[in-house]
Amino acid sequence: MVRKLIDWHEGNDRELVVTEEGFQVDIGGIEIIGRVDRLEKDAAGRAFVVDIKTGGSVPKDGEIGRHPQLGVYQLAVLKDAFARFGLTEPGGASLVQVGGDRVNPKEQGQKALGDDAAPEWSERLVRGVAGGMAGSSFPATRNTFCDSCAVRSSCPAHDEGKRV
Ligand code: SF4
Repeated sequence: MVRKLIDWHEGNDRELVVTEEGFQVDIGGIEIIGRVDRLEKDAAGRAFVVDIKTGGSVPKDGEIGRHPQLGVYQLAVLKDAFARFGLTEPGGASLVQVGGDRVNPKEQGQKALGDDAAPEWSERLVRGVAGGMAGSSFPATRNTFCDSCAVRSSCPAHDEGKRV
């Protein structure tokens, strides 16, 4: 994994700003607290967030455009999570896959929010999740992450969890 990470790093032309950086932002009463693996700056001076993945399961390339974690990172940039570094515009985000059996690293990039046809998708997602979790109950709904979900065996949306 280290060799794959170095291979990826040597081919990455963005500028590294900081690693393992925490952030906290408020989005209309919704607080988001997190930490990014790498905060980088692209050639246009925009923030680019990289998340290093060491696990074996990899999202489909077609899912990256609306990958929630990456979208929330970009939203955090937009809400001044990293203004202290002079970075206030999101330039995109990516997952760098170094785990599993693959020989080479794989980078899966999400385009800048501002370049998306519907740049509000990320904030809408956060507001929808926050609204749902603030309720007295919310339904488990099958989705593309179920196969790698740690609580599937006790999830009522699947046969094996229904008894729980
Ligand atoms: S297994 Fe259940 S809890 Fe896990 S992602 Fe799927 S629906 Fe959600």
